[in-house]
Amino acid sequence: MTSILETSVADCHPASVPDYIPVEQLRDLQLQRLRTVVTRAWQQVKLFRSRMDELGLTPDDIRSLEDIAKLPFTKKSDLRDTYPFGLFASPMKDVVRLHASSGTTGKPIVVAYTQEDVDVWTSVLVRALAGCGLHRGDIIQVAYGYGLFTGGLGAHYGAEGLGATVVPASGGHADRQIMLMRDFGVTAICCTPTYFLHLVDRAAELGVDLKKLPLRAGIFGAEPWTESIRWHIENQSNIKAFDIYGLSEIIGPGVSCECFRHEGLHIFEDHFYPEIVDPDSGAPLPDGCEGELVLTTLSKQAMPMIRYRTRDITRILPGKCECGRTLRRMDRIGRRSDDMLIIRGVNIFPSQVESALLQIDGTLPHYQILLTRKQGLDQMEVQIEVTPQMFNDKIGALQELHQKLQGALDRVLGIRVQVALVEAHTIERSEGKAVRVIDRRAS
Ligand SMILES: [Zn+2]
Repeated sequence: MTSILETSVADCHPASVPDYIPVEQLRDLQLQRLRTVVTRAWQQVKLFRSRMDELGLTPDDIRSLEDIAKLPFTKKSDLRDTYPFGLFASPMKDVVRLHASSGTTGKPIVVAYTQEDVDVWTSVLVRALAGCGLHRGDIIQVAYGYGLFTGGLGAHYGAEGLGATVVPASGGHADRQIMLMRDFGVTAICCTPTYFLHLVDRAAELGVDLKKLPLRAGIFGAEPWTESIRWHIENQSNIKAFDIYGLSEIIGPGVSCECFRHEGLHIFEDHFYPEIVDPDSGAPLPDGCEGELVLTTLSKQAMPMIRYRTRDITRILPGKCECGRTLRRMDRIGRRSDDMLIIRGVNIFPSQVESALLQIDGTLPHYQILLTRKQGLDQMEVQIEVTPQMFNDKIGALQELHQKLQGALDRVLGIRVQVALVEAHTIERSEGKAVRVIDRRAS
Protein backbone atom coordinates (compact mmCIF):
# COMPACT_ATOMS: atom_id res chain seq x y z
CA MET A 1 0.00 0.00 0.00
CA THR A 2 1.22 3.49 -0.81
CA SER A 3 1.52 5.84 2.15
CA ILE A 4 0.30 9.40 1.81
CA LEU A 5 3.90 10.60 1.79
CA GLU A 6 4.64 8.51 -1.25
CA THR A 7 1.81 9.98 -3.25
CA SER A 8 2.73 12.89 -5.50
CA VAL A 9 0.22 15.60 -6.36
CA ALA A 10 -0.12 14.25 -9.88
CA ASP A 11 -1.35 10.94 -8.47
CA CYS A 12 -4.05 12.61 -6.37
CA HIS A 13 -7.61 13.02 -7.52
CA PRO A 14 -7.86 16.46 -9.17
CA ALA A 15 -10.56 17.57 -6.72
CA SER A 16 -8.09 17.31 -3.84
CA VAL A 17 -5.81 19.91 -5.45
CA PRO A 18 -6.72 23.60 -4.92
CA ASP A 19 -6.41 24.18 -8.68
CA TYR A 20 -9.90 22.77 -9.13
CA ILE A 21 -11.87 24.25 -6.22
CA PRO A 22 -15.23 25.81 -7.10
CA VAL A 23 -14.86 29.51 -7.94
CA GLU A 24 -17.18 30.71 -5.16
CA GLN A 25 -15.20 28.80 -2.57
CA LEU A 26 -11.98 30.25 -4.03
CA ARG A 27 -13.31 33.82 -3.78
CA ASP A 28 -14.33 33.26 -0.12
CA LEU A 29 -10.86 31.93 0.65
CA GLN A 30 -9.24 34.88 -1.14
CA LEU A 31 -11.29 37.43 0.83
CA GLN A 32 -10.53 35.76 4.13
CA ARG A 33 -6.80 35.65 3.30
CA LEU A 34 -6.80 39.22 1.97
CA ARG A 35 -8.22 40.52 5.25
CA THR A 36 -5.62 38.58 7.22
CA VAL A 37 -2.66 39.73 5.13
CA VAL A 38 -3.78 43.37 5.14
CA THR A 39 -4.13 43.25 8.93
CA ARG A 40 -0.69 41.70 9.23
CA ALA A 41 0.95 44.32 7.00
CA TRP A 42 -0.93 47.14 8.80
CA GLN A 43 0.24 45.90 12.19
CA GLN A 44 3.84 45.08 11.27
CA VAL A 45 4.99 47.24 8.35
CA LYS A 46 5.48 50.93 9.11
CA LEU A 47 5.37 52.10 5.48
CA PHE A 48 2.09 50.31 4.81
CA ARG A 49 0.57 51.60 8.05
CA SER A 50 1.44 55.21 7.23
CA ARG A 51 0.02 54.95 3.71
CA MET A 52 -3.20 53.45 5.07
CA ASP A 53 -3.38 56.30 7.61
CA GLU A 54 -2.96 58.87 4.84
CA LEU A 55 -5.93 57.36 3.03
CA GLY A 56 -7.93 57.11 6.25
CA LEU A 57 -8.16 53.33 5.91
CA THR A 58 -7.98 50.45 8.38
CA PRO A 59 -8.11 46.70 7.63
CA ASP A 60 -11.83 46.79 8.57
CA ASP A 61 -12.49 48.70 5.35
CA ILE A 62 -11.76 45.53 3.36
CA ARG A 63 -15.17 43.86 3.23
CA SER A 64 -15.14 42.47 -0.31
CA LEU A 65 -12.49 41.53 -2.87
CA GLU A 66 -13.35 44.68 -4.85
CA ASP A 67 -12.27 46.76 -1.83
CA ILE A 68 -8.69 45.81 -2.67
CA ALA A 69 -8.75 48.76 -5.12
CA LYS A 70 -8.89 51.13 -2.11
CA LEU A 71 -5.48 49.96 -0.91
CA PRO A 72 -2.24 51.77 -1.78
CA PHE A 73 0.13 50.29 -4.37
CA THR A 74 3.58 48.96 -3.49
CA LYS A 75 6.36 49.71 -5.96
CA LYS A 76 9.84 48.38 -6.54
CA SER A 77 11.25 51.69 -5.27
CA ASP A 78 9.61 50.95 -1.90
CA LEU A 79 11.82 47.87 -1.58
CA ARG A 80 14.92 49.85 -2.46
CA ASP A 81 14.00 52.76 -0.16
CA THR A 82 13.51 50.44 2.82
CA TYR A 83 16.62 48.32 2.07
CA PRO A 84 17.37 45.84 3.47
CA PHE A 85 14.64 44.77 5.92
CA GLY A 86 12.17 47.65 6.10
CA LEU A 87 9.17 45.77 4.66
CA PHE A 88 9.54 42.65 6.80
CA ALA A 89 6.48 41.67 8.79
CA SER A 90 8.20 38.90 10.78
CA PRO A 91 11.02 39.13 13.31
CA MET A 92 14.33 37.82 11.96
CA LYS A 93 14.15 34.78 14.26
CA ASP A 94 11.17 33.59 12.19
CA VAL A 95 12.85 34.25 8.85
CA VAL A 96 14.46 31.08 7.47
CA ARG A 97 15.62 32.41 4.09
CA LEU A 98 16.67 35.63 2.38
CA HIS A 99 16.95 36.14 -1.37
CA ALA A 100 17.99 39.26 -3.26
CA SER A 101 17.77 40.56 -6.79
CA SER A 102 20.93 40.98 -8.81
CA GLY A 103 20.28 44.74 -9.03
CA THR A 104 22.16 46.20 -11.99
CA THR A 105 22.15 49.64 -10.39
CA GLY A 106 22.41 50.52 -6.73
CA LYS A 107 21.31 48.26 -3.91
CA PRO A 108 19.59 44.97 -4.59
CA ILE A 109 16.09 44.31 -3.32
CA VAL A 110 15.83 41.82 -0.48
CA VAL A 111 13.00 39.36 0.12
CA ALA A 112 12.33 37.12 3.13
CA TYR A 113 10.59 33.84 3.83
CA THR A 114 9.33 32.12 6.97
CA GLN A 115 9.18 28.32 6.96
CA GLU A 116 5.47 28.59 6.05
CA ASP A 117 6.38 30.87 3.11
CA VAL A 118 8.94 28.35 1.84
CA ASP A 119 6.28 25.63 2.16
CA VAL A 120 3.76 27.69 0.15
CA TRP A 121 6.44 28.37 -2.47
CA THR A 122 7.19 24.67 -2.74
CA SER A 123 3.49 23.82 -2.98
CA VAL A 124 2.79 26.22 -5.85
CA LEU A 125 5.79 24.89 -7.76
CA VAL A 126 4.64 21.33 -7.19
CA ARG A 127 1.28 22.33 -8.69
CA ALA A 128 3.02 24.15 -11.57
CA LEU A 129 5.24 21.19 -12.45
CA ALA A 130 2.35 18.73 -12.08
CA GLY A 131 0.35 20.94 -14.47
CA CYS A 132 3.14 20.45 -17.03
CA GLY A 133 2.64 16.69 -16.71
CA LEU A 134 5.67 16.04 -14.51
CA HIS A 135 5.54 13.59 -11.61
CA ARG A 136 7.50 11.20 -9.43
CA GLY A 137 9.83 9.24 -11.68
CA ASP A 138 10.80 12.31 -13.73
CA ILE A 139 14.41 13.45 -13.64
CA ILE A 140 14.41 17.24 -13.54
CA GLN A 141 17.54 19.26 -14.28
CA VAL A 142 17.46 22.68 -12.66
CA ALA A 143 19.67 24.93 -14.79
CA TYR A 144 18.60 28.22 -13.23
CA GLY A 145 21.30 29.86 -11.13
CA TYR A 146 21.35 28.77 -7.49
CA GLY A 147 22.05 31.52 -5.00
CA LEU A 148 20.47 34.83 -4.11
CA PHE A 149 18.40 34.59 -7.32
CA THR A 150 15.14 32.76 -6.60
CA GLY A 151 15.10 30.66 -9.80
CA GLY A 152 17.38 27.78 -8.83
CA LEU A 153 16.25 27.06 -5.28
CA GLY A 154 12.59 27.70 -6.13
CA ALA A 155 12.50 25.14 -8.93
CA HIS A 156 14.65 22.79 -6.83
CA TYR A 157 12.24 22.65 -3.88
CA GLY A 158 9.27 22.32 -6.21
CA ALA A 159 10.78 19.40 -8.13
CA GLU A 160 11.79 17.68 -4.88
CA GLY A 161 8.34 18.33 -3.40
CA LEU A 162 6.83 16.67 -6.45
CA GLY A 163 8.82 13.55 -5.68
CA ALA A 164 10.92 13.83 -8.83
CA THR A 165 14.67 13.26 -8.97
CA VAL A 166 16.44 16.63 -9.01
CA VAL A 167 19.69 17.34 -10.82
CA PRO A 168 20.80 20.69 -9.31
CA ALA A 169 23.06 21.68 -12.21
CA SER A 170 22.67 25.46 -11.65
CA GLY A 171 23.48 27.82 -14.54
CA GLY A 172 26.37 27.81 -16.99
CA HIS A 173 28.75 25.08 -18.22
CA ALA A 174 26.77 24.13 -21.31
CA ASP A 175 28.87 21.05 -22.13
CA ARG A 176 28.35 19.66 -18.65
CA GLN A 177 24.60 20.40 -18.81
CA ILE A 178 24.37 18.37 -22.02
CA MET A 179 26.45 15.52 -20.59
CA LEU A 180 24.15 15.36 -17.53
CA MET A 181 21.03 15.41 -19.70
CA ARG A 182 22.33 12.55 -21.78
CA ASP A 183 24.02 10.40 -19.12
CA PHE A 184 21.35 10.79 -16.41
CA GLY A 185 18.39 10.36 -18.77
CA VAL A 186 16.98 13.76 -17.78
CA THR A 187 13.28 14.08 -18.72
CA ALA A 188 12.67 17.77 -17.96
CA ILE A 189 14.73 20.94 -17.66
CA CYS A 190 14.08 24.27 -15.92
CA CYS A 191 15.99 27.32 -17.25
CA THR A 192 15.53 30.49 -19.28
CA PRO A 193 14.28 29.86 -22.84
CA THR A 194 17.32 31.56 -24.35
CA TYR A 195 19.69 29.40 -22.34
CA PHE A 196 17.91 26.31 -23.60
CA LEU A 197 18.32 27.56 -27.18
CA HIS A 198 22.00 27.90 -26.43
CA LEU A 199 22.06 24.28 -25.19
CA VAL A 200 20.31 23.19 -28.39
CA ASP A 201 23.05 24.82 -30.49
CA ARG A 202 25.86 23.46 -28.35
CA ALA A 203 24.40 19.94 -28.38
CA ALA A 204 24.38 20.03 -32.19
CA GLU A 205 28.05 21.06 -32.19
CA LEU A 206 28.88 18.19 -29.84
CA GLY A 207 26.98 15.75 -32.02
CA VAL A 208 24.30 15.09 -29.37
CA ASP A 209 20.82 14.76 -30.84
CA LEU A 210 18.44 16.16 -28.20
CA LYS A 211 15.51 14.60 -30.06
CA LYS A 212 16.86 11.16 -29.22
CA LEU A 213 17.19 11.85 -25.46
CA PRO A 214 14.37 11.10 -22.96
CA LEU A 215 13.99 14.87 -22.46
CA ARG A 216 10.31 15.68 -22.99
CA ALA A 217 9.52 18.97 -21.23
CA GLY A 218 11.10 22.34 -20.56
CA ILE A 219 9.76 24.75 -17.95
CA PHE A 220 11.01 28.12 -19.10
CA GLY A 221 10.81 31.45 -17.29
CA ALA A 222 12.66 34.46 -15.87
CA GLU A 223 12.32 36.40 -19.13
CA PRO A 224 9.50 37.18 -21.56
CA TRP A 225 9.42 34.94 -24.64
CA THR A 226 7.17 34.59 -27.65
CA GLU A 227 5.35 31.84 -29.52
CA SER A 228 8.08 32.03 -32.19
CA ILE A 229 10.67 31.02 -29.59
CA ARG A 230 8.39 28.18 -28.48
CA TRP A 231 8.18 27.00 -32.07
CA HIS A 232 11.97 27.02 -32.43
CA ILE A 233 12.51 25.19 -29.14
CA GLU A 234 9.92 22.48 -29.78
CA ASN A 235 10.97 22.02 -33.36
CA GLN A 236 14.64 21.61 -32.59
CA SER A 237 14.43 19.44 -29.50
CA ASN A 238 11.12 17.60 -29.72
CA ILE A 239 10.07 18.64 -26.21
CA LYS A 240 7.01 20.48 -24.91
CA ALA A 241 7.90 24.01 -23.79
CA PHE A 242 5.93 25.49 -20.85
CA ASP A 243 5.96 29.10 -19.72
CA ILE A 244 6.31 29.71 -15.98
CA TYR A 245 6.05 33.16 -14.40
CA GLY A 246 7.08 34.63 -11.12
CA LEU A 247 9.08 37.34 -9.44
CA SER A 248 11.11 37.47 -6.26
CA GLU A 249 9.07 40.31 -4.78
CA ILE A 250 6.01 38.03 -4.75
CA ILE A 251 7.65 34.65 -4.06
CA GLY A 252 9.95 33.69 -6.96
CA PRO A 253 9.01 31.38 -9.83
CA GLY A 254 5.59 29.75 -9.41
CA VAL A 255 3.14 32.66 -9.40
CA SER A 256 1.58 31.18 -12.54
CA CYS A 257 2.32 28.46 -15.07
CA GLU A 258 0.92 27.04 -18.29
CA CYS A 259 -0.97 23.78 -18.30
CA PHE A 260 -0.82 21.30 -21.19
CA ARG A 261 -3.34 23.43 -23.14
CA HIS A 262 -0.75 26.24 -23.51
CA GLU A 263 -3.54 28.84 -23.51
CA GLY A 264 -2.32 31.22 -20.86
CA LEU A 265 -0.77 30.72 -17.44
CA HIS A 266 -2.94 29.66 -14.50
CA ILE A 267 -2.35 31.98 -11.57
CA PHE A 268 -2.17 30.24 -8.20
CA GLU A 269 -4.91 32.55 -7.05
CA ASP A 270 -5.35 31.04 -3.63
CA HIS A 271 -1.96 32.62 -2.78
CA PHE A 272 -1.54 35.47 -5.28
CA TYR A 273 -4.41 37.82 -6.06
CA PRO A 274 -4.15 39.35 -9.55
CA GLU A 275 -5.43 42.69 -10.77
CA ILE A 276 -4.88 44.43 -14.10
CA VAL A 277 -4.58 48.20 -13.93
CA ASP A 278 -4.01 51.03 -16.36
CA PRO A 279 -0.22 51.52 -16.19
CA ASP A 280 -0.58 55.32 -16.25
CA SER A 281 -3.59 56.04 -14.04
CA GLY A 282 -3.53 52.88 -11.87
CA ALA A 283 -7.28 52.43 -12.44
CA PRO A 284 -8.46 48.78 -12.32
CA LEU A 285 -9.32 47.21 -15.68
CA PRO A 286 -11.78 44.35 -16.27
CA ASP A 287 -10.77 40.82 -17.26
CA GLY A 288 -9.81 40.67 -20.94
CA CYS A 289 -8.26 44.16 -21.00
CA GLU A 290 -4.52 44.55 -21.35
CA GLY A 291 -2.70 46.48 -18.66
CA GLU A 292 -0.15 46.18 -15.89
CA LEU A 293 -0.29 43.13 -13.65
CA VAL A 294 -0.62 43.97 -9.95
CA LEU A 295 -0.24 41.17 -7.43
CA THR A 296 -1.11 40.82 -3.77
CA THR A 297 0.35 37.95 -1.75
CA LEU A 298 -2.55 36.42 0.14
CA SER A 299 -0.62 34.15 2.47
CA LYS A 300 2.90 35.55 2.70
CA GLN A 301 4.10 36.09 6.26
CA ALA A 302 7.67 37.40 6.27
CA MET A 303 7.10 40.01 3.59
CA PRO A 304 3.51 40.56 2.48
CA MET A 305 3.19 42.50 -0.77
CA ILE A 306 0.02 44.50 -1.10
CA ARG A 307 -0.90 45.55 -4.66
CA TYR A 308 2.63 45.19 -6.02
CA ARG A 309 3.15 46.88 -9.40
CA THR A 310 4.97 44.24 -11.46
CA ARG A 311 5.50 46.46 -14.56
CA ASP A 312 4.59 43.37 -16.60
CA ILE A 313 1.96 43.96 -19.27
CA THR A 314 -0.65 41.23 -19.73
CA ARG A 315 -4.37 40.58 -19.40
CA ILE A 316 -6.58 38.10 -17.57
CA LEU A 317 -7.98 35.69 -20.14
CA PRO A 318 -11.75 35.44 -19.95
CA GLY A 319 -13.45 32.04 -19.94
CA LYS A 320 -12.54 28.66 -18.57
CA CYS A 321 -9.59 26.48 -19.49
CA GLU A 322 -10.40 23.09 -20.90
CA CYS A 323 -8.01 21.45 -18.44
CA GLY A 324 -10.68 21.97 -15.75
CA ARG A 325 -8.65 24.21 -13.44
CA THR A 326 -10.80 26.96 -11.95
CA LEU A 327 -7.81 29.27 -11.52
CA ARG A 328 -7.89 32.28 -13.81
CA ARG A 329 -5.28 32.53 -16.54
CA MET A 330 -3.06 35.42 -17.53
CA ASP A 331 -1.80 35.91 -21.05
CA ARG A 332 1.91 35.33 -21.62
CA ILE A 333 3.97 38.35 -20.68
CA GLY A 334 4.90 39.92 -24.00
CA ARG A 335 6.50 43.01 -22.57
CA ARG A 336 7.34 44.95 -19.46
CA SER A 337 6.50 48.59 -19.19
CA ASP A 338 10.18 49.23 -18.31
CA ASP A 339 11.35 47.50 -21.54
CA MET A 340 9.92 50.22 -23.69
CA LEU A 341 12.43 51.91 -25.94
CA ILE A 342 11.70 55.36 -27.26
CA ILE A 343 13.31 55.72 -30.67
CA ARG A 344 12.82 59.05 -32.42
CA GLY A 345 9.67 59.53 -30.39
CA VAL A 346 8.17 56.14 -31.22
CA ASN A 347 7.51 53.53 -28.50
CA ILE A 348 9.08 50.17 -29.33
CA PHE A 349 9.14 46.91 -27.38
CA PRO A 350 11.82 44.26 -28.06
CA SER A 351 9.07 41.60 -28.17
CA GLN A 352 7.52 43.33 -31.22
CA VAL A 353 10.86 43.03 -32.97
CA GLU A 354 11.12 39.38 -31.92
CA SER A 355 7.71 38.35 -33.25
CA ALA A 356 8.20 40.22 -36.52
CA LEU A 357 11.60 38.68 -37.22
CA LEU A 358 11.24 35.10 -36.09
CA GLN A 359 8.16 34.37 -38.15
CA ILE A 360 10.25 34.60 -41.29
CA ASP A 361 11.95 31.46 -42.61
CA GLY A 362 15.71 31.53 -42.60
CA THR A 363 16.06 33.35 -39.26
CA LEU A 364 17.42 31.87 -36.04
CA PRO A 365 16.02 32.79 -32.61
CA HIS A 366 19.02 34.97 -31.72
CA TYR A 367 18.89 38.71 -32.22
CA GLN A 368 20.07 41.90 -30.62
CA ILE A 369 19.00 45.52 -30.82
CA LEU A 370 21.80 48.07 -30.91
CA LEU A 371 20.97 51.68 -30.13
CA THR A 372 23.32 54.56 -30.96
CA ARG A 373 22.99 58.29 -31.48
CA LYS A 374 24.34 60.12 -34.52
CA GLN A 375 24.16 63.89 -34.69
CA GLY A 376 21.50 63.91 -32.01
CA LEU A 377 19.33 61.34 -33.80
CA ASP A 378 18.60 57.87 -32.39
CA GLN A 379 19.72 54.99 -34.57
CA MET A 380 18.44 51.46 -34.11
CA GLU A 381 20.06 48.46 -35.70
CA VAL A 382 18.60 44.99 -35.38
CA GLN A 383 21.14 42.22 -35.77
CA ILE A 384 19.65 38.82 -36.48
CA GLU A 385 21.31 35.48 -37.01
CA VAL A 386 20.27 33.57 -40.10
CA THR A 387 20.68 29.91 -40.97
CA PRO A 388 23.99 28.74 -42.46
CA GLN A 389 22.15 27.73 -45.66
CA MET A 390 21.30 31.39 -46.24
CA PHE A 391 24.99 32.28 -46.35
CA ASN A 392 25.75 29.30 -48.57
CA ASP A 393 23.02 30.10 -51.07
CA LYS A 394 23.51 32.57 -53.82
CA ILE A 395 23.64 36.21 -52.80
CA GLY A 396 20.12 36.88 -54.09
CA ALA A 397 18.52 34.76 -51.35
CA LEU A 398 20.23 36.79 -48.64
CA GLN A 399 19.09 40.05 -50.21
CA GLU A 400 15.56 38.75 -50.50
CA LEU A 401 15.54 37.76 -46.82
CA HIS A 402 16.92 41.17 -45.89
CA GLN A 403 14.08 42.87 -47.74
CA LYS A 404 11.46 40.65 -46.11
CA LEU A 405 12.82 41.39 -42.63
CA GLN A 406 13.07 45.09 -43.35
CA GLY A 407 9.46 45.09 -44.58
CA ALA A 408 8.22 43.17 -41.52
CA LEU A 409 9.96 45.59 -39.13
CA ASP A 410 8.71 48.66 -41.01
CA ARG A 411 5.15 47.41 -40.71
CA VAL A 412 5.36 46.54 -37.01
CA LEU A 413 7.42 49.47 -35.76
CA GLY A 414 6.26 52.24 -38.05
CA ILE A 415 9.77 53.67 -38.37
CA ARG A 416 12.75 52.72 -40.50
CA VAL A 417 15.48 50.82 -38.63
CA GLN A 418 18.64 49.14 -39.91
CA VAL A 419 18.66 45.37 -40.31
CA ALA A 420 21.92 43.42 -40.28
CA LEU A 421 21.97 39.72 -41.12
CA VAL A 422 24.75 37.93 -39.28
CA GLU A 423 26.01 34.36 -39.32
CA ALA A 424 24.92 31.83 -36.71
CA HIS A 425 26.76 32.15 -33.35
CA THR A 426 27.75 35.78 -33.96
CA ILE A 427 25.64 37.18 -31.13
CA GLU A 428 27.04 36.52 -27.69
CA ARG A 429 25.04 33.92 -25.75
CA SER A 430 23.92 34.52 -22.20
CA GLU A 431 23.86 31.95 -19.39
CA GLY A 432 20.75 33.46 -17.86
CA LYS A 433 18.48 36.14 -19.18
CA ALA A 434 19.17 37.16 -22.78
CA VAL A 435 20.66 40.59 -23.46
CA ARG A 436 18.36 41.85 -26.20
CA VAL A 437 19.18 45.54 -26.14
CA ILE A 438 22.52 47.31 -26.11
CA ASP A 439 22.03 51.02 -25.59
CA ARG A 440 25.05 53.11 -26.51
CA ARG A 441 23.14 56.35 -26.84
CA ALA A 442 24.50 57.90 -23.66
CA SER A 443 28.16 57.19 -24.35
ZN1 LIG B 1 -5.50 24.88 -18.08
